[in-house]
Amino acid sequence: MKLESRVDALPGDPGVYLFKGANGRVLYVGKAQSLRARVRQYLAGGDGRPRIPALMERVEDVDVLVTPTIKDALLLENELIKRHKPPFNVRLRDDKQYLGLRIDPSEDWPRVTTVRKRRRDGAWYFGPYTSSVALKDVLSNLRRIFPLRSCRDAVFRDYRRRGRPCIEYEMKRCVAPCVDLADADHYRGLVEGTRLFLRGRGEELIGDLRARMNEAAEVEDFEEAARLRNRIAAVEETVEDQQIVGGLGAERDVFALAREGGEAEVQVLHVRDGRVVGAEGFSFSNVKLDAGDVMSSFLGQYYGGDTDREIPRELLVSSLPDTGDGIETGLAERAGRGVAVRQPARGSPRRLLELAAKNAQGALERRLAEKGSIEAALEEIRDRCSLSVMPRRIECYDVSNLQGSLAVASRVVFEDGEPQKRDYRKYRIREAMGGDDYDCLREVLRRRVARSAREPLPDLLMVDGGRGQVAVVAAILRDKGHDVDLLGIAKERAMDSPQPRVRRSGGLKAERLYRPGRSNPIRLSPSSRGLLLLQRVRDESHRFAISFQRDLRSKLGLASVLEEIPGIGPGKRRALLKYLGSMRAVREASVEALVAVPGISEKDAETLRLFFDAALSAPSS
Ligand code: SF4
Repeated sequence: MKLESRVDALPGDPGVYLFKGANGRVLYVGKAQSLRARVRQYLAGGDGRPRIPALMERVEDVDVLVTPTIKDALLLENELIKRHKPPFNVRLRDDKQYLGLRIDPSEDWPRVTTVRKRRRDGAWYFGPYTSSVALKDVLSNLRRIFPLRSCRDAVFRDYRRRGRPCIEYEMKRCVAPCVDLADADHYRGLVEGTRLFLRGRGEELIGDLRARMNEAAEVEDFEEAARLRNRIAAVEETVEDQQIVGGLGAERDVFALAREGGEAEVQVLHVRDGRVVGAEGFSFSNVKLDAGDVMSSFLGQYYGGDTDREIPRELLVSSLPDTGDGIETGLAERAGRGVAVRQPARGSPRRLLELAAKNAQGALERRLAEKGSIEAALEEIRDRCSLSVMPRRIECYDVSNLQGSLAVASRVVFEDGEPQKRDYRKYRIREAMGGDDYDCLREVLRRRVARSAREPLPDLLMVDGGRGQVAVVAAILRDKGHDVDLLGIAKERAMDSPQPRVRRSGGLKAERLYRPGRSNPIRLSPSSRGLLLLQRVRDESHRFAISFQRDLRSKLGLASVLEEIPGIGPGKRRALLKYLGSMRAVREASVEALVAVPGISEKDAETLRLFFDAALSAPSS
C-alpha cells in the first residue's frame, strides 16, 4: 500500500495530516505532536488492528503539513476542516448557536451588548446563554447591579449635547457618564464588577465590593457605602440562585458525548467559581469516528477556531482524546498556561460529567424522536401520494408578481425535513411577460431542468399551485425525458377548477395535493405529519419569494419599478411624471387623477392603482 511505504519517511514534527481517498478527496484531517507516530498509529492501532476501519479502507494517500508548534497545528487543522469538509471529521457549525454578551474595554465608556457571534477583536465575551430568556434575565440583573450605559454612541453624544441624561438615569439603571455624573474611575469599577459578575466570579466580586464598602465607611462616605452594600446584597442574591457543583474557585468546561449510530450530541457546561454559568449543545450526523477522536476533533474546533473562547485550566471529558494528537499541549500553548484534559472517575467532577452526559443523552433522544417523526412524515407523503421514492430531497417552487410586474420565483430545498438554505435559489423572470403564473413557472422549471446534468433533480419536485401548475411542470419533465415525482399543493380556493369552491376545515382553508395524471386531489388530514411538512416547505418558498421581491423593489426604487408595469411605456411614464409632478404624487394618485393625465387610459389607470396598492401592501417579511 502506498501509504504504508511512506510512513517511515514522514517527519516526526508537529503538524497536520490529511488522509486522502480516490481522486485525491480529503477524507480526514487531524493534528499530531509527531506526524510519523500518529499516522503509524492509524495504520496499526494500539492493539495491532487499524483504527477506524471504515476510514482506513478508503485511504489511499496522506499529505502532511509541518507546523512550528502544536498550537499552529490546531489552528491549521481548523482551517483545513472548514475548507475540505472531510466526511470523517465532525464539523462544528456553531455560528448560529452562540448567544452571549460583549464588552469592549477599549471604549471610553464601555457598555454591554448582546451578540450572536464571537470574534477575536480584543473585546470580552460572556456566555453562551442557553436561551434569550436566560440572557434577558442576566441583563436585567446586571443593569440593576452595575448601571453601565446601555445607549449607542450616537445617542450618548446626543444627550451629551443636550446636557441632560436620558430616562435610564431616572430609573437608576445608568450612572449617566454622558453628562459626567460618573467619573472615569467609578465607571471603570463598574465595568470590572460587571466582568467578574459575568465570569461567574461572585465570591471575588463580593470580596472586592466589601473592601470598597469598608473604605467608603472609613472616610465617612456613607452614601457610597450604602450603594455598595446594596450591590453586595444583589450579587449575593443572584449567586445564591446558582447551584454549587464544584469547589469554589473551580473553573472548568465539561464535555459529554452521547451517540447512537451515526448521530451524536455533545453537551458543554461552563463552570466558573464552582457554579454552572453556561451550557451549549451541538449535534452531529454521520459520525464515523471513535469517541476519543470525536472529542479531540470537537475540542480542536471549539477552542481553536477564530472565536475567542476562554480556555479554562481544566477540561472534563467523557472520552479521552488520544494523547498522540497533542490536543492538551496545543490548548495549553494557546492559553499560555497549563490546561488539563481529564476523564474524572469520582467526586464532584464526576457528578458534573454525569450531569452533562444526562443532558447530552436527553438532547440526543429528543433529536432522534424528531427524526423519527420526520421519517414518519416522509413515509406518509410517499404512501398517500403514491410517490416512487421516499421524498428525502424536496425542491419547491413559488412564483410571485405585483400586478404582472416584478415577477420573481423562488426555490427552496428541504432534505430529510430540514431546510438546506445553501441550495435556495432566486429567479427573476426574464421571458414570461404579463405575470402569467403558468408562463413564469414554465420559464423557471425550464431553467432548472436545463441544469439537471450539473445538479440532479430532487426526489420530489413541488409547486405552490393546483392542477394547472402541475400540468405545466409535468409537460416540461415529459419533454426532457425526466421521470421525477411531482406534487402541487394548493388551498382549496386556489384550485384551478372552473368554479372554485371555498370550503373551510376547522376555520382554515383545506389544502389539496395534486399529482400529474390523477384527476382527484389527495386530501390529508389537517393534523397529519406529512401535510404539516409539505405546508412548511410551501410556506418557506412563499416567504422566500416575497422577501426577494421586496428586496428587489427597494433596490430598484419605485421610479424604476414603474418601468416594469406592463403597458406603461416611456411616453406614458414621462407624461405621468410631468403632469403629476413627482413619483410620490403618481404613487398616491387616485384612478380619476391618473385618467386625467394625457395618454393614460382608464385601463392604464386601474393597472397603475392596483400595482401601487399591491406594492404598498405587500408583506415586508
Ligand atoms: S443616561 Fe446617558 S449614558 Fe446613560 S443610557 Fe442614558 S444617554 Fe446613555
